[in-house]
Amino acid sequence: DGSKHDADLDHGERAFTADQVRVGQRAHDLDRAHVFHSWQAQGPFDPMTILAAEGPYIWDGEGQKLLDMSSQLVNTNIGHQHPKVVAAIQEQAAKLCTIAPQHVNDARSEAARLITDRAPGDLDHVFFTNGGADANEHAIRMARLHTGRTKVLSAYRSYHGGTQLAVNATGDPRRFASDYSAEGIVHFMPAYQYRSYFGATTEAEETQRALQHLEDMITLEGPSNIAALILETVPGTAGIYGPPAGYLEGVRELTTRYGIIYIADEVMAGFGRTGRWFAVDHWDVTPDLITFAKGVNSGYVPLGGVVISDAIFETFRDRVYPGGLTYSGHPLACAAAVATINAMDDEGMIGNAERLGRDIIGPALHEMAQRHPSIGDVRGMGCFWAVELVKDRTTREPLAAYGGSSPEMNRVIAAMKSGGVLPFANFNRIHVVPPLNTPDADVRFGLKVLDEALSIADEYV
Ligand code: PLP
Repeated sequence: DGSKHDADLDHGERAFTADQVRVGQRAHDLDRAHVFHSWQAQGPFDPMTILAAEGPYIWDGEGQKLLDMSSQLVNTNIGHQHPKVVAAIQEQAAKLCTIAPQHVNDARSEAARLITDRAPGDLDHVFFTNGGADANEHAIRMARLHTGRTKVLSAYRSYHGGTQLAVNATGDPRRFASDYSAEGIVHFMPAYQYRSYFGATTEAEETQRALQHLEDMITLEGPSNIAALILETVPGTAGIYGPPAGYLEGVRELTTRYGIIYIADEVMAGFGRTGRWFAVDHWDVTPDLITFAKGVNSGYVPLGGVVISDAIFETFRDRVYPGGLTYSGHPLACAAAVATINAMDDEGMIGNAERLGRDIIGPALHEMAQRHPSIGDVRGMGCFWAVELVKDRTTREPLAAYGGSSPEMNRVIAAMKSGGVLPFANFNRIHVVPPLNTPDADVRFGLKVLDEALSIADEYV
């Protein structure tokens, strides 16, 4: 079919030999026999084999080419197999694969410099972790030690990671099985205008009421007990619902007033995803701690971390920080981060992400909303967009209930895949989250496939 191929000129076609396909099939058989997968019922799960990947494209086990509009788990911000990053990992591997965290290594030092240079305010030090969940665990530990308090405020409709404390802090249903296995987490209602918990009908009202709710929570929980507030700057998996104007400024003001450490979780929103280095840059807000992972090196080698304010750093100047990881600041991961950040700079990817959102993705999705009655809401920025699908625009009844999938959503997702696009889907939402350097024509191709698949969603309106 012509539609699949007219936009993908930059990355070419690939033919796989029968042998290559057989290797993929054997990998799939071994996977089903021996691999235990994240967040799955192991029996019915049928994972997709990936034979190859390049730029924004992947090739599945049958050799079908798919535009990866999910950036995997919203982490391949520079696409797959970026030659400069691959070379940097190879060079670092040839020089020095691993050192313990107590030593010095040029890749780690340079990664820390590049990250802190881009972080706002006086966030001048980095504690490196292996990913996002452990970054949040450590940020919370730092906040507790710094304040001498224990409670942590966290928003419903959020995701902070799969380890014990991080999953308890999470506000989506992935927390349910682990609820109360970690202590001290208290959830509050986020500002989420499309389904306002405060009955707000305007953005200003949402901001004002959500902040009033937050201050009430602080008062009722006891400010002197609250160590930290953790908040995704733009909540990602939970729906890419950016904060209403004034909300983050209000959060900063309240946390400062009550001596609460403000942890901005930018594991998904950071490193260019929103069209800025850090998402907080859109609002000129400086948190006390920022957690990152994913986009810092596009996930080529696992890496995460906490960027730390000078005031919190001072707590540990003469006091041992009781925490660490064998692979903190792993040279291969840090070399990949250095090369990724430099490539983002050299190739103008941050500006490109902003432009793609402003000139292509945003206008296309808003235009689709005029034709597809199943679109309840369109929101986003940069290469970070969500379309919320509903059966009824007035009642806002979702196309899949909160916390689950539905046959209706599954048909939309399947149509996108057969059209040549791998989407990121969650509950009743399709997320448009391509790599930041996806060529315009390929972005348009992905949007066209989404447009076609939405006619299926329209059948249920
Ligand atoms: N925080 C946010 C906002 C995330 O989106 C994620 C992962 O999706 C995490 C934390 C957890 O990161 P990781 O899976 O690297 O532990």
